[in-house]
Amino acid sequence: MASLYFKFAAMNSGKSTQLLQAHYNYFERGMNPMALTAKLDDRFGDGKITARIGLDLHAETFGTDTDVLALVQKAHEDKKVDCVLIDEAQFLTSDQVIACTKIVDDLGIPVMCYGLKTDFMGKLFPGSEALLRFADNLEEIKTICWCGRKATHTARVTSKGDVVREGAQVAIGGNDMYVSLCRKHFLRGEPAAQKAADGKDKAAA
Ligand SMILES: [Zn+2]
Repeated sequence: MASLYFKFAAMNSGKSTQLLQAHYNYFERGMNPMALTAKLDDRFGDGKITARIGLDLHAETFGTDTDVLALVQKAHEDKKVDCVLIDEAQFLTSDQVIACTKIVDDLGIPVMCYGLKTDFMGKLFPGSEALLRFADNLEEIKTICWCGRKATHTARVTSKGDVVREGAQVAIGGNDMYVSLCRKHFLRGEPAAQKAADGKDKAAA
């Protein structure tokens, strides 16, 4: 039985690395995995999934208007697709997540989605919300905060290291714009030990 998976995490948790590994595992067994990534993420050029460890992979891209079911169905007709791997899955629309359930339920192809759970304001992305509602299998990919606790949130920070609380949900840039934090340090707005110390000094003064 095919399943819909949602593997979620904060930024910089190695999600793309895990996707590349899963892709390789299928490929190594002579199977045909299909990789998809969000069109708006063009950090490394269109149609490429790049992991920070220095590997990359060609991928089909999706925008908010992409018919994901038709895209996979067409590829599947050309050559049997054994698995669909989706990076940046937080950018799927809820309709596209429903399309993913049809890839699983009607075409019988497993779909593994990798993405962020929440944005820099701590709110669910539309794709993540729909995946949390409809995925068969949820898995948290863990990374750690500077304090050593599990990082569950992603803060947007300025070049001075100050936490940003307002703005557009999507502002893709280098990884240095975002910091993965535990809930405590996310809610306190302390993206680094230094900032936390500054806060204490101010409170003491
Ligand atoms: Zn922390």
